[in-house]
Amino acid sequence: MSTIPVGISACLTGQTVRHDGGHKHSRYCTEVLSRWFTLRPLCPEAGAGLGTPRPSMRLEQRGEAVRLISPRNDHDVTDAVMAWSASQLDALADLRGFILTAKSPSCGMSRIRVYNPEGDVVRRDASGLFAVALMQRYPLLPVEEAARLNDDALRENFMERVFLYDDWCRLRAAGLSAATLLDFHTRHKLQMLAHSQQGYRELGRLLADLKRVDLNALADEYIARVMHLMRQRVSPGAHVNVMQHVLGYFRRNTDAALREAADAQIAAYQRGEVPLVVPLTLLRLMQQQAPDAWLARQHYLAPYPDALGLRNRL
Ligand code: SF4
Repeated sequence: MSTIPVGISACLTGQTVRHDGGHKHSRYCTEVLSRWFTLRPLCPEAGAGLGTPRPSMRLEQRGEAVRLISPRNDHDVTDAVMAWSASQLDALADLRGFILTAKSPSCGMSRIRVYNPEGDVVRRDASGLFAVALMQRYPLLPVEEAARLNDDALRENFMERVFLYDDWCRLRAAGLSAATLLDFHTRHKLQMLAHSQQGYRELGRLLADLKRVDLNALADEYIARVMHLMRQRVSPGAHVNVMQHVLGYFRRNTDAALREAADAQIAAYQRGEVPLVVPLTLLRLMQQQAPDAWLARQHYLAPYPDALGLRNRL
């Protein structure tokens, strides 16, 4: 059982740290994701000593700056929250992902409203103070809002990125070499192809000559591009292309009826009649019957634990 460290806004775990003394408990996080993740809760506002309950806060445009203000008493808590956030960042280096609370002026990842002092909304494209600090310090880290995890595609994408990023962090911890870098690129080939064929080709060019480069610098550029590529949604058509590619490995040595069934279910998936898990289960069965060494190492066939049920809903 893997215990991947993932940060989380504390109110999502049921801690009563919100300004009104309540919480935003996400049962999906604490009852499902906690089976694979070691959730590490943080509350920037409670951590900054603002107390609970406390006046509600919002982002306000003050001159050129955006400040975190309690409009009830015009109390500016920006410096306290920023200082606390900065003090925590070093300790978050081992995280493989972070789940944030939506709409919060401290934790919200995106689409946070900014008001003027009169209370009018002047922007809707900000991020919370802690979220900004986190994403600037760890730009590779998969970050998502709990509310967006209700969307099947966004949830699957976040989980795929967390498990891939964990694989990368393990590689770096074990020691980078040209061989391990190429091995990572190979193992994740089908996943990357599903997200972007062009992006995968560009990554291949980046890794074309590893002898005359600073390997650490190249690896940093490589994983930055990979994590960017993995954020792109995978279309049904892209899944179909990858699955047809996988099917091509079973032209021989597999049961013809099973091959035909897999082909038919790929087509059914393309028509939206069955979820992704159906053709993929048949492809995995074929892989069990006639194992292919290269396919056996492809994360595309099992990018995360099956029990998450993510591909049942795609
Ligand atoms: S600051 Fe973040 S963790 Fe704390 S209550 Fe607000 S949203 Fe939740």
